[in-house]
Amino acid sequence: MAELVKGALLYTGKAKEMYATNDPEILWVEYLDQATALNGKRKVAVTEKGLLNNRIASLIFTDLKQHGIENHFIEQLSDRVQLVRRVQMIPLETVVRNAASGSFERKFAVPHLTKFATPVLEFFYKSDQLDDPFINESQVAALDVASAAVVAEMKRQALLVNTRLQAIFKAMGIQLVDFKLEFGLTDQGKVLLADEISPDSCRLVDQQTQASLDKDVFRKNTGDLTTVYQEVLQRLTAVEGSQA
Ligand code: ADP
Ligand code: MG
Repeated sequence: MAELVKGALLYTGKAKEMYATNDPEILWVEYLDQATALNGKRKVAVTEKGLLNNRIASLIFTDLKQHGIENHFIEQLSDRVQLVRRVQMIPLETVVRNAASGSFERKFAVPHLTKFATPVLEFFYKSDQLDDPFINESQVAALDVASAAVVAEMKRQALLVNTRLQAIFKAMGIQLVDFKLEFGLTDQGKVLLADEISPDSCRLVDQQTQASLDKDVFRKNTGDLTTVYQEVLQRLTAVEGSQA
């Protein structure tokens, strides 16, 4: 393969910058040292955040691949850069919940961290302008956001990811409360897991102390984000490093 060269900036998101490369199938992703809340309305610089999330996401995507769950991750290039397979993003956030928190807890007035017998699946329409509203499957169909077959495939993969992520985090002494995934379509029309899996996109709680180990410490101003993400990476490295 010819040497890969970084190309034009395609998109500046809230957490990452996406660049083209000389290979049309490959994107160059730079994880930023920046945290946002309230859909970008609050934004601050956070030391090391890009490095920590890039490493955490790289380890998790690699683990998923090893466990038969395909995803867009190709390789980590440097502290803040990873290469991914370019897909056509489906503008839906797929949320899987194993226990009550956040909007679910507020909406249904159930106690924090009430465990669910089976995982809850929700979709949100990805639109900063509309504040990512909840969207159900008939609304997805009405707006022609994705076909029923694609929605079914996202659900299937999301539940597989949930099973594997729960196992990873359990081995780290962490309860996986909920998380968000984003999927895209390959040129062949295959649904492929994309974007990131990190403490930005997961709700994680220490099994012993119930302390938050995710972006909630930033959203709620209850702790230092860098310290917490370092803790997650340290535990993840211990678990993934000891794998066969
Ligand atoms: P946002 O502010 O929209 O959350 P991010 O900072 O997370 O953005 O940047 C990532 C952007 O790139 C998102 O719009 C995401 O949907 C998109 N993206 C993630 N993975 C891929 C991929 N493999 N191919 C194309 N776009 C992707
Ligand atoms: Mg994002």
